[in-house]
Amino acid sequence: MSGTDVLVACQDAALTFGRGPTAVVAVHGANLSITPGDRLAIVGPSGSGKSSLLHLLAGLECPTSGTVTWPHLDGPGDIGLVFQADSLVPSLDVAENTALPLVLAGHPETQTRHPVTEALGLVGAAALAERLPEEISGGQAQRVAVARVLAQQPCLILADEPTGRLDHATGARVLDALLTAADRTGAALVVTTHDPAVAPRRPPRRGRRARRRAAPRAPTS
Ligand code: ADP
Ligand code: MG
Repeated sequence: MSGTDVLVACQDAALTFGRGPTAVVAVHGANLSITPGDRLAIVGPSGSGKSSLLHLLAGLECPTSGTVTWPHLDGPGDIGLVFQADSLVPSLDVAENTALPLVLAGHPETQTRHPVTEALGLVGAAALAERLPEEISGGQAQRVAVARVLAQQPCLILADEPTGRLDHATGARVLDALLTAADRTGAALVVTTHDPAVAPRRPPRRGRRARRRAAPRAPTS
């Protein structure tokens, strides 16, 4: 895949919930395209349409007008989405939750151990591997949700407020983990946030051109 291959493109994409006088326009006329290595922060206050735009990019919602296309993605496994809400399976421990996308994709357990251990280590959750979701905090669950996507090594990482429930230092570590993982694999990274400190964040190590690129703002509503 070359650097100019478009992973996902929106053309005048809009998403309206409901009809008539109570209709809510969540996304209005979004135009953007994302290529490998891109780093994009979607910044806006609560209710401005960040999650809605991310769900359009993930294919979880269909645009009510305009188009969203994925010209160079082979399937759902190429997209890793960190949900804003809790998304861990209660009956699986942290390591099993992190391995889940790989298991569902048909990888044998022996092939999931290394990426799971590495991903949990990146977000500082290695010590939680054997705990159930009910035995960890909301912030820890958010880090595990990030690790689950990193273990999958998708071409396109979509993270919905991945630092929303974290203190500053832990949030910085999770952002570093997302940036480092995306940098290693050449994945594109899209993060939504209401925190103005998130958008300028750069990877912990310096050197590559993609790291010096300014994070553009995307239309959110
Ligand atoms: P953000 O993520 O920026 O907080 P959202 O994308 O969640 O914003 O929401 C944008 C707008 O769309 C809000 O007014 C919200 O109430 C509305 N909205 C989001 N999801 C739904 C839904 N499933 N049904 C109806 N309205 C929704
Ligand atoms: Mg949201």
